[in-house]
Parts: sequence; C-alpha cells; structure tokens
Amino acid sequence: MTGPVARIDLDAMRHNLSRVRELAPGSPVVVAIKANAYGHGLIESAQALVDADAYGVARVEEGLQLRREGVSKKIMVLEGFASHAELMLCQGRDFELVIHDISQITQLEDYLTSERTHHASQDDAAFVVWIKIDTGMHRIGIPAGESRAAIEKLRQLPNVKLVGILTHMASADDRKSDYTQLQLQQFESCIDPELEVSIANSACLLNWPQSVMGWVRPGIMLYGASPFSDSTAADEGLQAVMTLRTHLIAVHELKKGDAVGYGGAWRCPEDMRIGVAAIGYGDGYPRHAPNGTPVLVDGKHAALAGRVSMDMITIDLRNVAQARVGSSVVLWGEGLPVEEVAAAAGTISYELFCRLTARVKFRYEGKELLNHL
Ligand SMILES: *Cc1c(COP(=O)(O)O)cnc(C)c1O
Repeated sequence: MTGPVARIDLDAMRHNLSRVRELAPGSPVVVAIKANAYGHGLIESAQALVDADAYGVARVEEGLQLRREGVSKKIMVLEGFASHAELMLCQGRDFELVIHDISQITQLEDYLTSERTHHASQDDAAFVVWIKIDTGMHRIGIPAGESRAAIEKLRQLPNVKLVGILTHMASADDRKSDYTQLQLQQFESCIDPELEVSIANSACLLNWPQSVMGWVRPGIMLYGASPFSDSTAADEGLQAVMTLRTHLIAVHELKKGDAVGYGGAWRCPEDMRIGVAAIGYGDGYPRHAPNGTPVLVDGKHAALAGRVSMDMITIDLRNVAQARVGSSVVLWGEGLPVEEVAAAAGTISYELFCRLTARVKFRYEGKELLNHL
C-alpha cells in the first residue's frame, strides 16, 4: 500500500509526560491536547496521557468532544467561551473556563441573570473559571493592572467559582531573552494567596525553572519535540512520538541539466537519480519546504529536489545507491528529528504536526497499555 502513515508511539508520549513530572515535581499537570493533540489524535493522546491532572483544549467544542467520548477528567478551556450560546453548551460539562477579556465577565453576568429566570435549580449554573492575565504577550489576557478588579468582580458573581490565575510567555523559547523574567515579575504582582497559579508551557518547563509553580501546561514536549531552535528532543530528554513515513513510487535516471517537477525548481547538476515519494501538501507536507529539506530514504540521508506537489515529492537520491521503488521514506521522526525538517522548511514542529490532513493514516503503538477514559 502506498501513501503516508504516521506512526504514533504512545509509550514515548508517556515517557515525555514522566519528563514533565521530573521537571515539575508536585505540580499538577494540564496536558495541552488542543488541535487534535497537535495532530497526534485527540482521543488516543488523551488515553495515553490519562495520568495527567487535567486536559487543556483551546475551544469549547474540543472540550465537548472529549466529554462525548466519555472523558470525566478535569478539562481546562484555554480560550474560554465566546458567546451566550457557548456558555449554555458549557453548563453542566464541568469545564474550567479561562476568562481572558472583561467582555466575558459581562457575558457571564448576563447569562447568570437570564438563566436564573429560566432554571429552578441554580446548581447547574455553576461555572469554574480561571483568569488569564496579560503580562506582556499582548495576545489574550486581562492587563495585569486590571486583574485585581476582575478578580473582585468574579468573586461577586453567584454560581461562579474562581480558582486561579494564569499567564502565557511570549519568548520562553528564546534562552537569551530577558522578557520571560519581566513577564514573571508582572505576574507576581497579581498573585492572590487564595488563588491557584499557572505559567509554564514546555519552554518554561525546560528552561525557566523560576516559572515552574502551580499548574504546568506542557504541549509540544509531550509530542517529543523541542520548543527551542537550538536543541532537539533528545537533547531535552524527550522521545519522538510521531514518525511520518511513505514510500518511493518511482525512480528515474536523469541527465545533467534535466528539470524536475513544477517550474523546474530543481535542475540536475549532474547525471543522477531522482526518487518520487507518495506524500505532498495534500497530506500536509509543507509546500514551502525548499530544495535540500532533509528526508531519509531506506534510513539514509537524502534531500528534496524540486517543488512539493499535492500528492508527491521528488528526492535527490545521489546519497542512496540502493533506493528503488518501494523504498521507505521518512519525512520526520525516527532517525530524522522533526526540528531539522521544521528549520529547513522555515517553520516549527508544532505547525508540521498540526497540518497533517485526514489522508494520512495513523497507526498507534503502545495502545495495548491504554487505560479506558
Ligand atoms: C498551547 C498552550 C500551551 C502549551 O504550549 P507548548 O509550547 O506546546 O508547551 C500552554 N498554555 C496555553 C495557554 C496554550 O494555549
């Protein structure tokens, strides 16, 4: 069978969670499984990570999907709700909703007022919330200077339980930047002795121990990729989880000067062999990956030669004398760190993982050890 297969090593995922525990002993862990667990499969990943303390998703719909699958664990919705209708969907789902904007507090207030008139019981109107504080990233979050007022406001709302405050770091993946330290100082000014705290994503866990307090929120490291541009997963004590593989479906002997693929983006510098592998941007392989982007053919280093097509890529086989139709081609994973591919393609591992399409077949290993949700 041709066509790309993503092998997902769930034991490696579990190993990476144990690495989080090592780095944050005593901290409860919210595993970020938003965006289909960074492209690894929401339910399988949730099952593999069942020892976590909570699941973190971006949107309400993702939380609902987990509940529909029978997940009873705590679910943190990192963007919270966006409308009255979504609040209604959240009711009784036992979510922890992140409030990042004053408008959400108003919505919550309005919702509770109108629902009181409609519901005899007030119990099912209870919402558990966190406040996200903007300490300098300027994406989402209530400005640090307004956090005290927001905390007070939420404390006054009936049927709302405020459990904690969190923030997100803009430059934690940059070891040389002092911005993380500045954001930490901002955050410290907002700490309330009665509230939980949460700061650390993967880069914080691996590089900023001073940010590791309260709840930690790892994502990318669970999937066995380094958040830094100067290290690989192995350097960080992590194991690659995804290996994306396909096969050669054609091999050509070309002459010096022959053009390969759309636009002739590769011209053979000498007589050479070109392999054609069954994967393309229709599977999520990045079209912007240039000539020279690394791949493994039969375990040996080779490189893209020519533009990525929808269903195929073309590969310089000068380094792989034994390559033939049917040879295995690894795009990233075992033997080829995803970070190297991401760097060559001018992107990050997060995006490579997330963009895989439904045409890629997923095979899970280590599944026999999965617990039921
Ligand atoms: C996605 C996300 C994380 C996880 O980040 P990684 O860099 O993948 O570790 C943590 N916190 C929030 C709010 C997120 O949205």
